[in-house]
Amino acid sequence: MLAGIIKAFIRESGPITVAQFMQLALYDPKHGYYTTKEPFGGGGDFTTAPEISQMFGEMLGLWIADFWQRSGMPKLRIVECGPGRGALMQDLLRATQHVPQLHTHLEVVMVEISPRLIALQQQKLSAYSNICWQPDLTSIAADKYTIILGNEFLDALPIRQYTGTLERRIGLDDAGELCFLGGGDIRETCPDMERILQEAARLILPQGGACLFIDYGYTDTAPKEGTLQAVKAHHYHPLFEDIGAADITALVDFNALAKMSTHAGLCPLPLLTQGLFLERTGIHIRLKALQEKATEAQRTELETAVERLLSPAQMGTLFKVFCATHPKAVIPHAFEHE
Ligand code: SAH
Repeated sequence: MLAGIIKAFIRESGPITVAQFMQLALYDPKHGYYTTKEPFGGGGDFTTAPEISQMFGEMLGLWIADFWQRSGMPKLRIVECGPGRGALMQDLLRATQHVPQLHTHLEVVMVEISPRLIALQQQKLSAYSNICWQPDLTSIAADKYTIILGNEFLDALPIRQYTGTLERRIGLDDAGELCFLGGGDIRETCPDMERILQEAARLILPQGGACLFIDYGYTDTAPKEGTLQAVKAHHYHPLFEDIGAADITALVDFNALAKMSTHAGLCPLPLLTQGLFLERTGIHIRLKALQEKATEAQRTELETAVERLLSPAQMGTLFKVFCATHPKAVIPHAFEHE
């Protein structure tokens, strides 16, 4: 369906950029992947950390609570970018509800573009009244200490690819099928990521705070073949097959991310692996506490979940935690040893 629309568009208006392709495949209002499909979980295409275990959102909640307490307990806004099915925020809010004064000082903003996911998030978080939804960061006022979160959000943003000085495009081959035009080493940029960092700085610089993004990507030289990838039913999938029914992501360039945040006036901290971050925020203590009240089967389940989140063979080192703070902020927990 979507492939047909994209091909017709190319026949009519000429080749499209990689960014246009991602935008259409993922976010087309009628046929886009995030607009129409249920990507998450065992029956979906990929499983994210908050969907693996409640402990992920809980650890982020405790990390925020500690940072906020040491910042003098100001009025607080937590913004989550791309909240998916809302699990992270649900676990974060439950884990922080007994932190003295946090919830009375708190306003939550969910930044989401998929109407289908907004409806799911609203349903899941219906117990909370101090929460609202916005289509992007630009509609939020810079009037409060702000913490911005995003798990597997940056990888979903459309990227641009260049070969030399030419932007790489997608056209049609002789058989009328989608194909990349031109060859050579590929360089990637993500203008949306830059805009988001600038917006984050606009929100954080006046009253303090930080942003924290968890994602997979690279820290040294960029792969010359580019980093676009499609995933369907938990396996890599050819990019031009099942468009609109497979997830498409690009790896996050963490060096570029750090540079963008410095450029925007924030202070980027050393990158941590997800495993180290979760260990330092106390996931093993939380695991023990949950296991005490669990059945034998649940105990095993909890252990498997922690293993998935922490193990270098699974998500532990592939996923990185990037944090940038207000330049005068205290150093957030887990980053102080670096
Ligand atoms: N954080 C969730 C979901 C990750 S998938 C989890 O970890 O499970 C990416 C999410 O980002 C989806 O909810 C998608 O709809 C949303 N998204 C992608 N681009 C966006 C944009 N520009 N603005 C707001 N949300 C966006």
